[in-house]
Amino acid sequence: MAGQVDLGPLDQALETAHLPSLSAALVHLTGDRSWLRPEWRPTYTPLSKGETGVPEVEQARMRAAAKAAITDYLTGNVPMAATPGPDLVREMMGFVAGADIPDGYGEFLTDELALDGHSSKDPDWSPELKTVARRLHTLVIGAGMSGLLAAIRLEQAGVPFEVVEKNTDVGGTWLENTYPGCRVDSSNHMYSYSFEPNHFWPQHFSTQPVLLNYFQDVAARHDLRKHIRFGVTVEEMAWDERRAVWKVKLQTPEGPQQVEVNAVITAVGQLNRPRYPQITGRERFAGPAFHSAEWRHDVDLTGKRVAVIGTGASAYQFVPEIAGKVGRLTVFQRTPPWGFPVAHYHEDVPAGMNWLMEHVPFYDKWYRFWMFWMVTDGLLPMVTADPGWNGPSTAVSELNQGFRDMIAMAIAAQAPDRPDLVEKVIPTYPVGGKRSLLDNGVWMAALQRPNVELVTEGIAEITETGVVTADGQARDFDVIIYGTGFHASKFLWPMKIRGRGGADLHETWAGDPRAYLGMTTPGFPNLFMIYGPNTNIVVNGSIIFFSECSVRYILGCLKLLAQTGAVAMEPKREVHEAFNTRVDEGNRLMAWGAPQVASWYKNEAGRVTQNWPFALVDYWRATLTPDPQDFVLTKSAELVG
Ligand code: NAP
Repeated sequence: MAGQVDLGPLDQALETAHLPSLSAALVHLTGDRSWLRPEWRPTYTPLSKGETGVPEVEQARMRAAAKAAITDYLTGNVPMAATPGPDLVREMMGFVAGADIPDGYGEFLTDELALDGHSSKDPDWSPELKTVARRLHTLVIGAGMSGLLAAIRLEQAGVPFEVVEKNTDVGGTWLENTYPGCRVDSSNHMYSYSFEPNHFWPQHFSTQPVLLNYFQDVAARHDLRKHIRFGVTVEEMAWDERRAVWKVKLQTPEGPQQVEVNAVITAVGQLNRPRYPQITGRERFAGPAFHSAEWRHDVDLTGKRVAVIGTGASAYQFVPEIAGKVGRLTVFQRTPPWGFPVAHYHEDVPAGMNWLMEHVPFYDKWYRFWMFWMVTDGLLPMVTADPGWNGPSTAVSELNQGFRDMIAMAIAAQAPDRPDLVEKVIPTYPVGGKRSLLDNGVWMAALQRPNVELVTEGIAEITETGVVTADGQARDFDVIIYGTGFHASKFLWPMKIRGRGGADLHETWAGDPRAYLGMTTPGFPNLFMIYGPNTNIVVNGSIIFFSECSVRYILGCLKLLAQTGAVAMEPKREVHEAFNTRVDEGNRLMAWGAPQVASWYKNEAGRVTQNWPFALVDYWRATLTPDPQDFVLTKSAELVG
């Protein structure tokens, strides 16, 4: 609180500050636009920690002025100035981003930052509506990041709900994945709920226990556990046409149960059903063999001969951690990943930075804004295909080619004496074709250890004692670790879901899951998905942002039911189809939609079922509030309860 803060850490804090974000915060504090002067405007290098390119002498001037202004404010000498108007906010955004902010972004980012303390994501239901909403019994499936979020918003709106969770605690992916080195690969200042900032992230990209702790804390702060039943799995649900309810069969620690609810929100994640590869003989291996998401902490890897199959996001994190511990490590790579050079990936957040977040109002928000801008939509042009591109198939546009060259050079520079290794690890598909990882050198360092071998020959079979590659070479192992990913494309699997007329959702999708805005599907009324089809992201954004937008929209749908007295809603087929056509067109123009790229983002027919092809602002706008015209609203039938 102003007037009582120990200003001792201020000098050190200013040394570590992201100065453009601080300038914007100081506009709030002082009302003075001159914090945005051109000589302090940043010029960033892509993927940097935020170095501004501003000459040191100017930075020193800015810090000195900031020190005086912050001291005045925190000692209570000067009160906070009036909230800046929209034009000034836009100017501040352009300044912090070091770029002109396109039309449409001002409104989106103002809302995301909740500069006036209000966000479109807060449910704003009148007392009358809350009374009606008491009849909309809702089941949330999953208590991970998005299930907790849904629970918070339902509670705020006054909708009665229960959360069922298959695990014994909250946290979802951050509870399940405990492999060595597991950490978030989007900056925590962005990978956190917009309304639950943490000013004390220990690292820019924190480790799994820190993330788990964050979600457990949020659950505690919002007193959510009283709504959650743990150890409960949804096996099956069926829509009862006559009564307009979902009949949901649960497997609980006490045995099978059935509940009836008006609406179901699935928050089951997309990347949590481990996918073991279909390699001949896999079950024959006599030693311990496990998936990265089911890490066997009881298996001591010290001195062992270990095989790792897969080189995706998970392996990229655990291989460097175990390489120094095992006796011999063989990494089987089918396709190399792209790693973006991010030197500060494992670095601590400087204590001064945390101090500023805690004590200087709006600094945290502007820092988050910068993250959003720089590492999200700012990267989209680099992975957008140029339909007229006639360069090599290793890129999709000139910009993409330039980006590729920059990253390839950064990878090659890490192994100047190993051209053989460099050739193996530089992908031949375009940057952005698959999920890009963060590279601070530990991956290449691990692969260059004398006890580590990278094998790119295909795997022919697994035997009782090891792995045989297509060239006939047999290698013996004590342990095999599968970093082979998840059944991501089987949305909502293995739940059985029967909608109108008993139609089975998985049969309806027939391997091609689709949903309107990723959330609703014709024929399956009052079934709302979070992280559903085409809401995944490759280079832009944090999935928490998507979940927050989805939950706002789903709450909007429930509000619509309450306002209209309808008992069921589902998207009109033509709306659903037109949306999916737009999404398909969009995905064809992105690196991950390029025909030469094979990935789990695509289904067997080559359609991208996973990804949102547009900007974050587009999802934000599309999910502001449901348009009643997009839906078939059913008015008859009794409500439960
Ligand atoms: P993944 O990215 O799907 O990687 C699976 C790896 O296994 C790929 O290298 C794949 O090769 C390989 N593979 C699959 N089947 C194979 C087979 N039969 N033979 C040989 N290799 C095979 O899985 P993941 O690493 O678990 O990551 C999945 C997703 O989870 C990520 O994209 C990300 O969204 C999320 N994730 C996030 C974080 C984080 O935030 N820190 C960490 C981990 C995971 P191909 O490429 O050739 O298919």
